Amino acid sequence: MNLLDLSPPAAAETLRQWLAERGPGYRYRQVAPRLWQRPVASWEEATDLPRELRAALDEAFPLPRLRLLTSQLSKDGTRKFLWGLADGAAVESVLIPEGRRQTLCISSQSGCAYGCVFCATGRMGFERHLATWEIVAQVRELALDPELGKPTNVVFMGMGEPLHNWDAVDRALTTLNHTMGLGIGARHITVSTVGVVPNLRKLAARPEQFRLALSLHAPTHEQRLAIMPVEKKYSLDRVLPALQAFKRRITFEYVMISGKNDSLEDADRLAALAAPLGALVNLLPLHPGGTPGLMPASAAHLKEFGARLEALGVTATVRRSRGLDIDAACGQLRVAIERRRQVAAHQDASVE
Ligand code: SAH
Ligand code: SF4
Repeated sequence: MNLLDLSPPAAAETLRQWLAERGPGYRYRQVAPRLWQRPVASWEEATDLPRELRAALDEAFPLPRLRLLTSQLSKDGTRKFLWGLADGAAVESVLIPEGRRQTLCISSQSGCAYGCVFCATGRMGFERHLATWEIVAQVRELALDPELGKPTNVVFMGMGEPLHNWDAVDRALTTLNHTMGLGIGARHITVSTVGVVPNLRKLAARPEQFRLALSLHAPTHEQRLAIMPVEKKYSLDRVLPALQAFKRRITFEYVMISGKNDSLEDADRLAALAAPLGALVNLLPLHPGGTPGLMPASAAHLKEFGARLEALGVTATVRRSRGLDIDAACGQLRVAIERRRQVAAHQDASVE
């Protein structure tokens, strides 16, 4: 049985019952915290336990790992990890240090079904959902590394659409946040989504104050439809009202694409959507990697666009690009590696 896939209280209860059949009750207090609170890579490492117990735990509850395929460190300190899963799928996470904050950007799926035109993961198409444990293991693997340790913040901004994989993400949120789990405060956990409306409602209904980032990227139906196919199914006139169910301040993510969504009139329209919700706007420079031919807006223009929002009473931040030298945008490490592999395969083929 995979205890890492259960909610921390359920896993602890399973362990308690199993241990009760085997010996003294105090063992439970030594064993359960080794899942998340003082995690071990394998039971063998829990050297405060008798050898036979460790072997029995390993037999009954092996602790699965993610396999680190590559990691890259950017000049700005951003670190990118590519994880291999048991069936050959691969996903990435990105660790972004910002002062005392360590934000880990995690993946919820391998690939993505939503096909936003600017997104490298979208171009890959959908491969599969991640299991709860595979989502949380991206954080656990860092917690196991004495040099890195547990991040302070987690954002679902890696590969995949978290609200397309609601059941697993719902449980992953519990494990990330629960005091018997990783114990990361709900306000330090952000779910980023294009707005899968039914699951947006389920997220809003959770009692914890998880943060929400809505990937808006365009202020009108027509403009959004041109870059985000999801607009066909969950259009702005359905997504925006669903946001009112969130009691906490939300963020609009807005990738600035030259000539598509970045005119000053777009800023006015965006402000009209953000102001009534009290939403913060996060302006993102476009990373290359999506559809060829899309051009990033200039830094000066981002500033001007942001100033226009501010003048209309909307708080706007311009997010600095991090890890550009290591392809650390959404889904890009994997795309870069696959491209290299294809080039290599092609070269091999031409040699033969
Ligand atoms: N599927 C979710 C979460 C993963 S994407 C979502 O779309 O919200 C995380 C963020 O990266 C989103 O805001 C997404 O729009 C943004 N993003 C995707 N491709 C990008 C690119 N090429 N440049 C800048 N941001 C990008
Ligand atoms: Fe999927 Fe998000 Fe990329 Fe759109 S931006 S394709 S929803 S990962």
